[in-house]
Amino acid sequence: MMPLSFETVIGLEVHVQLATESKLFCSCPTAYIGSEPNTNVCPACLGLPGSLPSLNRRALELGVKAALALNCSINCMTKFHRKNYFYPDLPKAFQVSQYDVPLAVSGSMPIFLEGKVKNINITRLHLEEDAGKLIHETADGRLSGAAFSLVDYNRAGVPLAEIVSEPELSSPEEAREYVLMIRRLVRYLEVSDGDMESGSLRVDANISQKCSDGRWGSRVEIKNVNSLRAMERALEYETIRQRGLLLKGEEIVQETRHWDDNSGVTRSSRGKEEAHDYRYFPEPDLPQIAVERTLVENVRESLPEPPWKKREKFAREWRLSPADSASLSENLDVAVFLENVAASGADRQMAANWVKTDILRVLNETGLAVGDLQVGPEGLASLLAHVEKGSLSNTAAKDVLDIMLKKGIAVDDAMKEAGVKAGGVSRESLLGVVAKVLGENAAETALLFSGEDTSGKKRKFLQGLIMREIRGQAAPEDVSAMIDRVLDEMKG
Ligand code: ADP
Ligand code: MG
Ligand code: ZN
Repeated sequence: MMPLSFETVIGLEVHVQLATESKLFCSCPTAYIGSEPNTNVCPACLGLPGSLPSLNRRALELGVKAALALNCSINCMTKFHRKNYFYPDLPKAFQVSQYDVPLAVSGSMPIFLEGKVKNINITRLHLEEDAGKLIHETADGRLSGAAFSLVDYNRAGVPLAEIVSEPELSSPEEAREYVLMIRRLVRYLEVSDGDMESGSLRVDANISQKCSDGRWGSRVEIKNVNSLRAMERALEYETIRQRGLLLKGEEIVQETRHWDDNSGVTRSSRGKEEAHDYRYFPEPDLPQIAVERTLVENVRESLPEPPWKKREKFAREWRLSPADSASLSENLDVAVFLENVAASGADRQMAANWVKTDILRVLNETGLAVGDLQVGPEGLASLLAHVEKGSLSNTAAKDVLDIMLKKGIAVDDAMKEAGVKAGGVSRESLLGVVAKVLGENAAETALLFSGEDTSGKKRKFLQGLIMREIRGQAAPEDVSAMIDRVLDEMKG
């Protein structure tokens, strides 16, 4: 009998906290981290009788923005529903969410995997309000064993966009790439800070196994994955657990399971997730929402090129390596900075090298954003023009860039400060001088040529003569490299 084989099927629900000042249906501030508990609340987000919700237009715009970038179709009439369940983090005992007419449907987004591109279809994007936060007084913050729980409603009503994927991801690695791409996108769009640690980006992972004998196990929804690593571990664990059951001929129970990061297992969860009958019904306090054409078109015009387009462009058109294309498209401002360096006349590959090593290094070291740097794209391009002409060696150019970054001065002034003369010797004339000096000093050159100059004294001597001829207008390592080049050419 053929051994059984399996295929993993994964679909993700990603909740993105929208970067608005105020909540989805009231004017309370959205800041809940670091605020005194239960201070950013009002009758509306506490669900007190007589209060009425009204939709935050900015949240709608941000939702439309993310949806358009994901190539979704926007529903021009969209509706809110009440999702009913009882749990202390939900003051109204229902969450206002969307049901049969979500804000947007049928999108797609590519992910990159070892050089291959895979398109993942997006089922829907809808808006909903967040719940409050429960604080359990146990060492690990978990409910079990707590004598009591505290509740903070500052987060109740904060706007979320839920992005639901089709079940088209086929491994934990693909799931990871998908979440990373969503995070990059929402940061590009400034729709959210996309921070998983602080909970601005939360993932519920659905997973099932298809067996080669035709069985397809039920899907399990995993909650409480609070980092990318946790998501991957949870999906790996579930893969093994489900395959084990199928191998034994058992059925997979369709259920919600809770990831326990400390013990590295998922457990069948009791609690609010078990309340499967949400008794959805239309929110009677909100009208249907007309998403005007002009709003959609204005948002569409404001969209930047998405991260996957930038990455593909760097790889295909610019011919950068896959790793460089990825790292230089990670952040929109950096990608645009690079494009502007090239637009100001610099060679693309050279611009990419400098942005990748020198600019990104400074950003990492200082924690600054690229827009805060004292050197703009034109400034870097003018420096690179000197390097290309050969009037600045690479090393000298790095010193000059340091001065430009520190003092915010133009390249010519920075060169003066660094003691480098503008219009120093070009590569071509350096080659001429080196060839001439080597020719005039045949005895020394012969020793270099045959490798007998073990102490390097003759090389030093020749280098000194060359330096004198060019009046020191090249870096010693460039002169040395040019000597090697001429020797190589002599060897044929
Ligand atoms: P629910 O309300 O039960 O969470 P949703 O429609 O909101 O249902 O989300 C369903 C999620 O489960 C989607 O991300 C979808 O891709 C995923 N999914 C559906 N079927 C499967 C399956 N057989 N295996 C894995 N994931 C699945
Ligand atoms: Mg769901
Ligand atoms: Zn409020």
